[in-house]
Amino acid sequence: MRSLSLRPGVAMAVYAHPDDADVAAGGVMALWASQGCEMHLVVVCDGSKGAHGSKTTPERMREVRRDELELAADLLGVRRVHRLEVPDGDVSNSAELRARLVGLIRAWRPEVILAPDPTATFFGGVYVNHRDHRETGWALLDAAAPAAAMPLYFPEQGSAHQVSRLLLSGTHEPDVAIDVSAAIDVKVKAVLAHHSQTGDDAQGVSDVVRGRASQAGRALGLAFAEAFRSVELAG
Ligand SMILES: [Zn+2]
Repeated sequence: MRSLSLRPGVAMAVYAHPDDADVAAGGVMALWASQGCEMHLVVVCDGSKGAHGSKTTPERMREVRRDELELAADLLGVRRVHRLEVPDGDVSNSAELRARLVGLIRAWRPEVILAPDPTATFFGGVYVNHRDHRETGWALLDAAAPAAAMPLYFPEQGSAHQVSRLLLSGTHEPDVAIDVSAAIDVKVKAVLAHHSQTGDDAQGVSDVVRGRASQAGRALGLAFAEAFRSVELAG
């Protein structure tokens, strides 16, 4: 693990559910936005099935989660949220999804993309990584490398753009950590903005978010960090 410090002019985060980016990379997003980075957030799913109880409807969940997403994105300083509105559970690494991602990459031309590592399936013998996370990760990898950079892929989606680096979260093989000590308070607030997911125990959620970030930074002597698998793409 090594410490990584970047100051991208344009960056994009591509995640499945409305709260995923905040949990995975909210510190980095807030940090970069505060440094003047044009931060884009792509949310693939509509959030319509993100409830464990049955006292709600998909329509209601979609509405609630859209409002929570807007609040969280404002807190982080995200320039623009792009919602693809795929129903929860229905994401697949299809040509259609890749075309939409390639179109967004070519339109906004990010230097760095934050996204889920799709190779991580099981965590600690107690958690299966959500299918939407894995499919979003695979679709993003295929869209960024090589499709967006090669003009004959999806020629109707704009002119080719080479992304310089991918930072993949939720990974079993992290090799870089970014110091987010200056942004940890904003990250906690953004995660808590997704009240339908976090419930009423704000202190407990804050402790978990800070605890994970503290753990990620410990080996490098950082108070709070977010860890990623870094992939540098040749231009
Ligand atoms: Zn999720």
